[in-house]
Amino acid sequence: MDDGPRVGLPSNEHRAICLYSPAPGQPRCTNTATIHILTDDPHYGPIALPTCDDHAPIARAAGTHLLEHHHEGWCGLPGTRWVHEPVNRCELDDSGPNRTFTTVRTSSYHVEQQP
Ligand SMILES: [Zn+2]
Ligand SMILES: [Zn+2]
Repeated sequence: MDDGPRVGLPSNEHRAICLYSPAPGQPRCTNTATIHILTDDPHYGPIALPTCDDHAPIARAAGTHLLEHHHEGWCGLPGTRWVHEPVNRCELDDSGPNRTFTTVRTSSYHVEQQP
């Protein structure tokens, strides 16, 4: 295992706040989330990471970066999905039959810190 940032345990946080944590069990960032990042994690699969501007570079490196958009509207709320097309945004999952959906869940993530 490398010591770069990685996706942490799933979160039930639905407020628009950054879920970066410097290490497992450490207090999380509480900045307002400004960016919603979709990443592909080897363990969790496609997963959405809410992040502030400061921690966006870390969130982008926590897995295979797929998409991102401004954190707004339905982002991070229960019962929503990440829509790839025709627009890259989060919507309620009953919003239409002919869209390409990716079911995602919100997760916290952390950076492993080596001594
Ligand atoms: Zn942050
Ligand atoms: Zn979103």
